[in-house]
Amino acid sequence: PSLEVRAREGGAEVLAGYVDVHELQVLRVGLGGTVAGRRTIALASPPDPETAADLFADTAADLLAVGPPDVVVGVGLAVPGTVRTEDGSVAYAPNLGWDDAPFGDRAAKSLTERTGRRVRVDVANDADLGLLAEHRRGAAVGLTDVVYLCGTYGLGGGVLTGGHPLTGKRGFAGEVGHMGVDPDGRPCRCGSRGCWESETLASAWAQPFDLDENAADIVDLVLQRLGSGGVVSRRTRDKLSRAFARGLANMVHLFDPQAIVLGDGLWRDLWPALADDVLPWVDRFVMPAMRAGVEVRGSALGRDSTVLGAAELAFAPLLDDPLGV
Ligand code: BGC
Ligand code: ZN
Repeated sequence: PSLEVRAREGGAEVLAGYVDVHELQVLRVGLGGTVAGRRTIALASPPDPETAADLFADTAADLLAVGPPDVVVGVGLAVPGTVRTEDGSVAYAPNLGWDDAPFGDRAAKSLTERTGRRVRVDVANDADLGLLAEHRRGAAVGLTDVVYLCGTYGLGGGVLTGGHPLTGKRGFAGEVGHMGVDPDGRPCRCGSRGCWESETLASAWAQPFDLDENAADIVDLVLQRLGSGGVVSRRTRDKLSRAFARGLANMVHLFDPQAIVLGDGLWRDLWPALADDVLPWVDRFVMPAMRAGVEVRGSALGRDSTVLGAAELAFAPLLDDPLGV
């Protein structure tokens, strides 16, 4: 039988992980996205690549024990940074502070040390994986031109254009969070300034415009205040709205998408508080002929889209799936 048939008959499963600034998520997932087990580990501070890999392996070992271990045939890992297509290493993850990290190799090694199992480990960018999952069974099913945005700690993008995922030469394309929206803007974790990410406070490290707090969860704070109706000043609100709209307008000009899909955090926290302010600005920033017909919609898979995309990534070699979405 083909691998796919064998996988189906054997009830194959994969382990899918997502390491972000304050959380590691690990799921045990069956074909078609059924979740067979889940662990969420809170992280006090952004882990270095070795710590993250070892923690993943510990958690994976635990999840291997919740069902038959031998049906687990692969591992997919999502990271909030650029991943080299060539060898799956993480080139740069600004909010984790990772620079040139062979994270997948280390995770594979740790997993083998802990469990004696040798399974293939694939790594990809979190937003690209979110797009993959939303396109296969979420808010972007049937669409050919989509921009998927996720913003938990950083602002990430996955782009589908003419039915194909945009990858770039090295696999780095779609780093929309580091697109400049203000040449005089605030410093960003990527080393530049005035990035869409830093100007929309989507970064865990963003400094407040007019608040005293310097806490890492300043984003939550601002969102809370926006949500609760305005302790944030009008000036902050306007600036945030215009910066967000600037970026959305850039997405429209660059990719002419059918829809812009907002990942869970943006859709649940930012959009309800800001949509009324942002949308009129988008209209003003986008040139007239391109204004109509772009829909902003929310993720259908909620906070699991990225990790479910990581599961698709892990199944892909087994199913001979080119992942051309
Ligand atoms: C990173 C992206 C990532 C995004 C969301 C950005 O800071 O550069 O690679 O997709 O954060 O996590
Ligand atoms: Zn940046």
